[in-house]
Amino acid sequence: MNATNPATGEVVATYDEHTDEEVADALDAAASEFASWAERPIRERAELMADAADVLRDNNRRYAEIMTEEMGKPISQALGEVEKCAWVCDHYATHASSYLTSDGHPSPPGTTVRTEYEPIGPVLAVMPWNFPLWQVFRFAAPNLTAGNVGLLKHASNVPGCALAIEEVFEEAGFPDGAFQTLLVGSERVDDVLDDDRVRAATLTGSGPAGRSVAAKAGENLQKTVLELGGSDPFIVLDDADVEDAAETGAWARSMNGGQSCIAAKRFVVHDAVYDEFLEALLAELRDLTVGDPLREETDIGPQAQRHLMEELHGQVEASVDAGATIELGGEPLERDGSFYPPTVLTDVPDGCPADDEELFGPVAAVFRAEDEAEAVRIANDTRFGLGASIWTEDRDRGAAVASQIDAGCVYINQFVKSDPRVPFGGVKDSGYGRELSEAGIKEFVNEKTVWVE
Ligand code: NDP
Repeated sequence: MNATNPATGEVVATYDEHTDEEVADALDAAASEFASWAERPIRERAELMADAADVLRDNNRRYAEIMTEEMGKPISQALGEVEKCAWVCDHYATHASSYLTSDGHPSPPGTTVRTEYEPIGPVLAVMPWNFPLWQVFRFAAPNLTAGNVGLLKHASNVPGCALAIEEVFEEAGFPDGAFQTLLVGSERVDDVLDDDRVRAATLTGSGPAGRSVAAKAGENLQKTVLELGGSDPFIVLDDADVEDAAETGAWARSMNGGQSCIAAKRFVVHDAVYDEFLEALLAELRDLTVGDPLREETDIGPQAQRHLMEELHGQVEASVDAGATIELGGEPLERDGSFYPPTVLTDVPDGCPADDEELFGPVAAVFRAEDEAEAVRIANDTRFGLGASIWTEDRDRGAAVASQIDAGCVYINQFVKSDPRVPFGGVKDSGYGRELSEAGIKEFVNEKTVWVE
């Protein structure tokens, strides 16, 4: 398993995949640790999770640099990601106990009925490279605090991140077997799921990967949570603060090199402010610094993998062939590494990749909407349903539009972001289930009804 620096194209480290025997040992360790981990008071598990937050903060630069080296995230954003991981650990350290306390029920006369929330066992997490620490911690923090144990199958291009996360939990004092990294390729995931001690699986990644894991888990009756791709609309209505919308929209499209499921991908702009918004968006994107991700001032680093950048460029070319106009960018940069510039497409025809597919890179598709109703129609004209952002000076109007959008979350006058305090997840081809908040910690627990007569 190779870690390749996408800024240079050089292999920076090589790791041996785990053998079948090592995977079997890890499964044994997970099952045996679960028996005692689940029995520990939640207060003790929460204390260890708070210690994991400290380990992250104490080593933030080292962990940030591993991400930057393996997948090209600009260092300032990588440092932000480490801090966000510490936040989610702290969040569940503080709130897990109350999230998992029954509020009581309207009990039938003469009875008392309550719910107990019990952990269910080892959970497999199949995770992507784009937020290589955050995606894992947002699974691990609630699940380990709830009493489950974790098995991580991380993306094959970020093995150093995968091992670093295991180290965080070890250093925090979690027992052996509470969280383990399996260095295996995707073709070995089915074997792990076929072990009936694994009780659930969560996957963040592409649709095909999600379908494959959900099919196998379905065969084995393991519960799944899927967080798949998105093609989030960023709707700018005629009464929006256009400057603010353009500045935020440029960030929402380009942060993490545009490689985010909840990035603003389709800008749907009311005719009355279309020209003004497009000009402002272009100015913001032109201002971004593309380059060495280890430099603090870099806004956009390389795309994480060469083949994904080539795929992205193929989507741009196919969209242009279909009739789209390039307003900015549109060609990979001629330098070492897989750098793609901020790119803006307009006149995007129905059914071309920029309209229909997820564009996982800094490419904005801008659509003109005659009026509010057409903006809603364009926003919903996608098989995805992860997030949406709406810009208007009238909050009531924003809320009314939000209720017409098919998505797991809608942000008004804000870009779509994940936050430990609020539920996160999608509808349609963006997946199902929720992560974070109380909803996230309750996905993989046995909600046991206890009826006392
Ligand atoms: P993948 O979905 O292929 O990879 C994500 C994770 O799933 C990795 O750990 C991968 O392992 C694993 N995986 C892939 N296929 C299977 C399978 N059949 N069974 C079990 N596990 C599997 O994403 P890519 O890296 O190939 O990116 C492709 C596209 O997916 C992106 O361009 C983007 O559109 C979307 N994507 C969305 C993400 C999101 O945040 N929602 C994150 C990443 C990608 P391995 O690395 O070993 O193949």
